[in-house]
Amino acid sequence: RRSIILRRRPTGEPRREDFQIVEEPVPEPGPGEVLTRTIWLSIDPYMRGRMSDRKSYAEPVAIGGVMTGETVGEVLASNDPGFSPGDVVVGSRGWQTHSISRAGALARIERPGAPLGAYLGVLGMPGTTAYSGMKDIGQPKAGETVVVSAASGGVGSVAGQLAKRAGARVVGIAGGADKCVWVQETLGFDDCVDHRVGNLDLALADACPNGIDVYFENVGGAVQEAVFARLNPFARVVMCGMIAQYNEAEFPPGPNLGFVVAKRVRIEGMIVSDKPERFAEWRALAAPWVADGSLRHRETIVDGLDAAPEALRQVLRGGNFGKMLVRVGRE
Ligand code: NDP
Repeated sequence: RRSIILRRRPTGEPRREDFQIVEEPVPEPGPGEVLTRTIWLSIDPYMRGRMSDRKSYAEPVAIGGVMTGETVGEVLASNDPGFSPGDVVVGSRGWQTHSISRAGALARIERPGAPLGAYLGVLGMPGTTAYSGMKDIGQPKAGETVVVSAASGGVGSVAGQLAKRAGARVVGIAGGADKCVWVQETLGFDDCVDHRVGNLDLALADACPNGIDVYFENVGGAVQEAVFARLNPFARVVMCGMIAQYNEAEFPPGPNLGFVVAKRVRIEGMIVSDKPERFAEWRALAAPWVADGSLRHRETIVDGLDAAPEALRQVLRGGNFGKMLVRVGRE
């Protein structure tokens, strides 16, 4: 099997030399274990955090350890009565072509109703993040203005569509004209601001004439500053991610939060795994919407496990358009 391990902790953007490819014979599963081959590997922004030993909510990947990652795979051999060869499973099995897992760490996809990659994106961890963030914190209501950053991405595209379903006016923020057109025309957002051109403050003021009631925060940095300035009294801010700073050695100083008191703003952080029950809940709710085409999604697909390091670099600079996936093996 082929695995990608962390060779050293990166400074700035992750580079090829930070990783190492290791080849070894495919292992045999022990008692209670399952051998799978990887079909799809998800590339997610959080992986940059795992490469660093800065204190975080999760342990870093050890030097010499296999990079973590969610995958869809096929069972090749099983020493657990719950799984049989041919089963399609989702699990966190890392950047490798084959892996051995405890049966409890795998979830079978019964009768897949969507393309398998969707179980890592719109129906998987990113989709659940959007659902959980909106349900538990954002709580958009009809007539409110909701702003979503990284709007064309795995999380943002779902967060905005959920706010539309709730009857809100939804404004996306995305990098580039192509992404903004897709966010408006395909996802159905009311407006989309390109954060890479022009004056962000003016564009946001134009797109949000009644201020902002809910902000789904995915990026931080200059985008956050512009949005915070337009929050309404009693606004809710879902602190989901701050990708603009993931490659920084030192986090930049934050905003002055005096307005949080004056406007009684609620700012709340979230990690999707805090509420594990949301995963199954979301999949049951969203699968029919994916099947009938009313919940839109798109993927950027790269081929071969060896493309994973560059795929991560691209996600951190906006080179992906929709959920970033690596096709590791045939479906
Ligand atoms: P995306 O598919 O949205 O890809 C990342 C996008 O971030 C890029 O395409 C780019 O979009 C945007 N971006 C990158 N750098 C910058 C920058 N400097 N300024 C503004 N935008 C930037 O990724 P995901 O949907 O997987 O993740 C989105 C966010 O959600 C991340 O912050 C991630 O860490 C977070 N997250 C949090 C979870 C949680 O449990 N709290 C779980 C899952 C994700 P563009 O070209 O439009 O700028």
